Amino acid sequence: MALIVQKYGGSSVADAERIKNVARRVAKAKDEGNQVVVVISAMGDTTDYLIEKALEITDHPDLREFDALLATGEQQSMAFLAMALIATGYGATSLSGAQAGITTDTVHSQARILKIDPKRIRKELDKGNIVIVAGFQGISKGEEEDITTLGRGGSDTTAVALAASLSAEICQIHTDVEGVYTADPHLIPGARKLKEIGYEEMLELASYGARVMHNRAVELGELYNVPILVASSFSDSPGTIICKEASMEVKNKARGIAYDTNVSKVTVVGVPDHPGIAAAIFEPLARANISVDTIVQNASINNITDLTFTVARNDLIKAMSIVEPVVKSVGGKQCVTDSTLAKVSIVGTGMQNTPGYAARMFRTLHEQGINIQLITTSEIRITCIISEDRVKDAVQALHQAFELEKET
Ligand code: ADP
Ligand code: ASP
Ligand code: MG
Repeated sequence: MALIVQKYGGSSVADAERIKNVARRVAKAKDEGNQVVVVISAMGDTTDYLIEKALEITDHPDLREFDALLATGEQQSMAFLAMALIATGYGATSLSGAQAGITTDTVHSQARILKIDPKRIRKELDKGNIVIVAGFQGISKGEEEDITTLGRGGSDTTAVALAASLSAEICQIHTDVEGVYTADPHLIPGARKLKEIGYEEMLELASYGARVMHNRAVELGELYNVPILVASSFSDSPGTIICKEASMEVKNKARGIAYDTNVSKVTVVGVPDHPGIAAAIFEPLARANISVDTIVQNASINNITDLTFTVARNDLIKAMSIVEPVVKSVGGKQCVTDSTLAKVSIVGTGMQNTPGYAARMFRTLHEQGINIQLITTSEIRITCIISEDRVKDAVQALHQAFELEKET
């Protein structure tokens, strides 16, 4: 008997009809002879709604209480789905992250899974039950055992982590699109669905804005070699397989485009150019769990330089409260910020060691009259930071320039 993990996202369980639709799909997997573990997200925009309500109470909610609140979204939908299954004659048990044995570190709102003890899940499966686990949450290690959440979109990570821990045959991510596309199909109607994609490419796309998969879920999938299927909750279309050796579907080609509007730029102006300055700025940011991307330091003139980096917009206030005093203490002039930016990235292992991709990207953006503010690359990705209001034009033009709509 195969064990499979299925995850259903927020829009797939947005109302009672959709929850019943998910229950039918879960029941079908069970009828086909599988043991089924389901990971469920909060209904529709519930998490956004809870965040909004918390911010009506205070601008800076206590993070422990914030997690206690956000975790309730998934706890509602898990119970609704279990009720729907039980009402149609299936044995089902819903479990919170803690009940499912998911232990995390103590970093509220961005917790990482440390270990999973799936004994309760196994016990329920052995009884013949379908097990429904609340996504995106766990319980912190140590004496306090507080409720933690894994970061926005983290239900994907719960699903892949459970699949790894249960040695599941496959982890199926069911969502509101039919798979992973060459670009966000809601932005680019001509985007093409990929049959398969390697972990490495998917991780770059996810880390640079393709929210169809949580990046840490892809990371775990690769680490534990869990095959991941991304497919629709509403149709039986075949979906996209994310796996190790995605066949060389396309050689020498960009595979996909991602964009991310959650970008703020910080420029530190007029700091002395001597050893230790970068460490003085970035070490306290790292200690505060702020991830920094795209760091550029200008060549110095008279031993004075400028340093620019980007952070997520919701980290900007915290980042500034850390960086400004450091800049002052080293005799820097000022810090300037800009939150009207976006990242656009092309990704593909085929680009590795092949010249010409960066030039084509820059030329395409230039032809659209789009100014590039910063550039970063990895071996399989080129990212340009541009003005947020030109993102759609940029993605559209790049999709065309790299002929991503064509099957090759
Ligand atoms: P869920 O609630 O099911 O987790 P998400 O909203 O997190 O769903 O992710 C699905 C969305 O990801 C799609 O509706 C789509 O707009 C967006 N998306 C962005 N990039 C891509 C891509 N390359 N392929 C497919 N979907 C993408
Ligand atoms: N409900 C959470 C969110 O909206 C987790 C998830 O859906 O993956 O981010
Ligand atoms: Mg998601």
